[in-house]
Amino acid sequence: MDEIHEFCGVCAANTPGKNAAFDLYQMMKDLQHRGQAGAGLSTWNPDRNIMLRTYKRPGTVNEVFGGADENRFSDILKEYGGSVGIGHTRYGTSGSLTTRHVQPFERVHGLDYKWFAFGFNGHIANRKELEKKIRSLGYHLMLDTDTEVMMHFFSHHISDTKGDLKEVFRRISQDFDGAYNIAMVDARGNLVVARDPWGIRPLTSIVTDEGAFVASETCALHRHGTDGIRPIKPGELAILKDGKIEYHQYAKPKKRSLCFFEFIYFASVTSTLDGVSVYDTRKRCGEELAKIETQDVNDKDWVVIPVPQTARPIANSYAKAIGYPQIYDEGLIAVGKGRTFIDEGDRAAKVKRKFMPIPSVLKGKKVIVIDDSIVRSTTMATIVKYHLKEIGGAKEVHVRVATPPIIAPCYYGIDMRSFEELIASKYQDMIHNGKLSEEAQTEIAGRINADSLIYMTHDGIINALGLKREDICMACLDRKYPTPTGQELDKANFGKFRETGTTDPLEKC
Ligand code: SF4
Repeated sequence: MDEIHEFCGVCAANTPGKNAAFDLYQMMKDLQHRGQAGAGLSTWNPDRNIMLRTYKRPGTVNEVFGGADENRFSDILKEYGGSVGIGHTRYGTSGSLTTRHVQPFERVHGLDYKWFAFGFNGHIANRKELEKKIRSLGYHLMLDTDTEVMMHFFSHHISDTKGDLKEVFRRISQDFDGAYNIAMVDARGNLVVARDPWGIRPLTSIVTDEGAFVASETCALHRHGTDGIRPIKPGELAILKDGKIEYHQYAKPKKRSLCFFEFIYFASVTSTLDGVSVYDTRKRCGEELAKIETQDVNDKDWVVIPVPQTARPIANSYAKAIGYPQIYDEGLIAVGKGRTFIDEGDRAAKVKRKFMPIPSVLKGKKVIVIDDSIVRSTTMATIVKYHLKEIGGAKEVHVRVATPPIIAPCYYGIDMRSFEELIASKYQDMIHNGKLSEEAQTEIAGRINADSLIYMTHDGIINALGLKREDICMACLDRKYPTPTGQELDKANFGKFRETGTTDPLEKC
């Protein structure tokens, strides 16, 4: 799949009598796939003179917490230990990668209720408007990141409400438009984790004998058990106190809009999002793709391979559903880091380095290669031409994609930021009843060097998720953005794209 990234993972723990920093470290490791650019934690410890402390650095969780140096690891967790805390893994496209930009953000204050730290996962779509508003209240912005804007809004409301966090989040819900899961701890030891009223990103919780835990995904809670896992609902906040959780509806839920892309690509295959298994969803994607296959596949001439890692269960179940489980094979191996950070530069060269084909699987075969999605197309074009045909010796390559054509940007935290970077954006008028026309699919197949191309349909992806269309965000597929700012940005950007073929660098959020 093309290199796209999501913004971050959050976690929180309240473990009376224990050092929560150990649990936070493990949860951050389990959320590493949601962000590899930075990691950090904030803990509260009333026995410490500095009650609230934050440790954060750029890098992977392992690098940030001492790498192979076990003594350094123990020292960090001891020095920053406390029974209450939050953790964060970061991927960011706004702001540079200095320690300052890594979360949690901490605001130190002499009054304990005004002293807090927080981390968030998502993206605030109306950031520009919020910047103007917070500046008009006299706040100064130093960093190019929405986290700083959010911090000042929290400061403002906390000051106004004397630290009533339920009321603070109620007010925040009137300010913020977009996707936001926020974990916050203050110097009084109050710990709150909230999910935005649309529920765009997943957030989940569990209480065990060891304490109370919240994380972006269930994969980070499984070490504490699977029974009793409870998703946090849209517009709900969890107060973690004395090893228990109280849930409060701080804002009226809006149109439920869980991002479908979480299931297909971002979330861990071991996670369950709002009660739906990611693994089962990916398997159903394979079955849906098999239903719309047009080639006469057999077990002599054909082989089915995934683009690793995400597409594995999709390709495996596709081969079973097509009637030839034996033709599923591994023809492409990922040799680089899993989800490497893409800086500027030649994407195709990076893709060439990232994979290696297995010629003994591919040579002389008609290859069905299955990927989770095609965003910009550089990755797939390089895989087909270079890995599968040139090195692998495939006779034909037929691309099948588990995500319908991505035609529009995301304003909620996935870095697909403009129409023009998306290969399918100019074909949006050729989608009818959720299916891209054969003519358009043939044209895109040519652009990625493939002999044929079939995209998943809108109905297929809805069937695979097993959720109602109205409960899912699919705005990058159909431009039905769930929030008012998303709709406004779409109107402005789409109009401009139609007129000029480009959009402003950010309107790009
Ligand atoms: S626009 Fe697409 S990627 Fe963004 S939240 Fe909605 S479904 Fe997810």
